[in-house]
Amino acid sequence: MTAMTRQDCITLDQQDNLGPLREQFALPEGMIYLDGNSLGAQPKAALQRAQEVIQQEWGTDLIKSWNKAGWFDLPSRLGNLLAPLIGAEANEVVVTDSTSINLFKAIAAALDIQARTAPTRRTIVTERSNFPTDIYMAEGLTRWLDRGYRLHLIDSPEELNQAINQDTALVMLTHVNYRSGYLHDMQAVTAHAHQQGALCIWDLAHSAGAVEVNLNAAQADFAVGCCYKYLNGGPGAPAFIWVPQRHQANFNHPLSGWWGHAKPFAMAPSFEATAGIRRALCGTQPIVSLAMIECGLSIFAQTSMSEIRKKSLALTELFIQLVESRCGHHPLSLVTPRTQAQRGSQASFTHPHGYAVVQALIERGVVGDYREPEIMRFGFTPLYTRYVDVWDAVEILRDILDQQSYQVDLQRNAVT
Ligand SMILES: *Cc1c(COP(=O)(O)O)cnc(C)c1O
Repeated sequence: MTAMTRQDCITLDQQDNLGPLREQFALPEGMIYLDGNSLGAQPKAALQRAQEVIQQEWGTDLIKSWNKAGWFDLPSRLGNLLAPLIGAEANEVVVTDSTSINLFKAIAAALDIQARTAPTRRTIVTERSNFPTDIYMAEGLTRWLDRGYRLHLIDSPEELNQAINQDTALVMLTHVNYRSGYLHDMQAVTAHAHQQGALCIWDLAHSAGAVEVNLNAAQADFAVGCCYKYLNGGPGAPAFIWVPQRHQANFNHPLSGWWGHAKPFAMAPSFEATAGIRRALCGTQPIVSLAMIECGLSIFAQTSMSEIRKKSLALTELFIQLVESRCGHHPLSLVTPRTQAQRGSQASFTHPHGYAVVQALIERGVVGDYREPEIMRFGFTPLYTRYVDVWDAVEILRDILDQQSYQVDLQRNAVT
C-alpha cells in the first residue's frame, strides 16, 4: 500500500457518507473509542428519551403507560426495527431478556424439535473459542435435561465439516468470534448442518450492526444477539431472539412465563403459548432500559448495513496495515483474519504484555480492551469511528511500544 498520511485520513473522513452520523453520539472529547464491540457509545437522543420515560411515562402516566406509551408492545416493536439489520422479516424478532437467557430458550426449543423428529441425535457442536456463556448455557441446559447430550467443542472452523454428522442435533455458533473477529460463512455452515439433519443456532452478538447478516437467505434456524454492543442500546440493554416464521409454531421453550401466553391477562391457571414470535417472551421487561434501544436503532435506520460494512472493512484494513507498517518492529501478531470475507468489525493483536499495553493506551485516551490470552482487541464502529481516529490510535500505540511506557505486572481490574 502506498504510504498513508494523517491528512489522507482526514480527507477520507470528509468524503465519508457516514461521517455526519457521528454527531448523533455523545463521545467524550479527546477519547478514541475502540470498544463499541463491548459497550456501544451513547446515542445523544438516549438522554432525552430516558427523561421522557422516567418523567412522563413512569412519573405522570404510571400504569397507563403499558398501553398508552406502548410498553407492552415494545419487545415486538423494537424487534421489527431491528429485523432489517439481520435479514429477518417483520414479526420474527423480539427484544427481550439477555443473550444468555435467549440462548437457553433457543437451545431448548431446538433440542425439543430434534427430540420429536430425530430422537437419536445427541451432539451439540460448537467452538472451544466460543464466548464462554454460550458454552455454559448449553452445558447447564443439557445437564439439566439429563438425556445424554454431549458438547463437541471444535478447535478451528476447519473442523466444522467433519464435526457435523448424523449424531449432531444442533450446531451452535457465534457468527463473529468475540476474541479473534473470525466471521463464519453462515450460509455454507447452515447448509451443511441441514444436509446432515442438524439445526443451526447463530449468536449475532458481534454481528448485529457490525456486518451484513441475512438470516432468512441463509435459512438459519434460530438466532440471538446483543443490543449493548454494536447496536448502542446501553449498558445491559436487553438482547434479542429471532425465530423464523417456519419454526414459530414448533418453538417451545421451558421459560413459559405469562408474557408468552396466548392471553396473558386472562390469568388462566395453565400455560398456552401465544402464536407467533411473542412466545419467545417470558416475563415483564426492564422498560427503561428497553426504551433506550430505539435510540440506537434509529441511527441505523438512516443508513444501510452495506454502507456500514464497507466502511468497517476500510477501517479494520487501515488499522491492520498501519499497525504492521508502523509498529512492525514490536512483537505484535495479528489474530484477526486478513481475508475480508472472514473478518468482523474488529482487529485483535497479541502482545506478550497485552494487558499492560491496553491499560497504557486507555491512559492515553485510546480505549480498546484485553482478552485472555495476550489479546489486545480493538472494535471499529463505522457510525462514529473516523479514519483519523485509526491513524491517531496507531501513533499512540507506536509511541507506547517504542517508549515501553507500559507497566507490566499491573493489578488487573475485574473487567479487563
Ligand atoms: C457479549 C456476548 C454475550 C453476552 O451475554 P449476556 O447474557 O448479555 O451477558 C453472549 N454471547 C456472546 C457471543 C457475546 O459476545
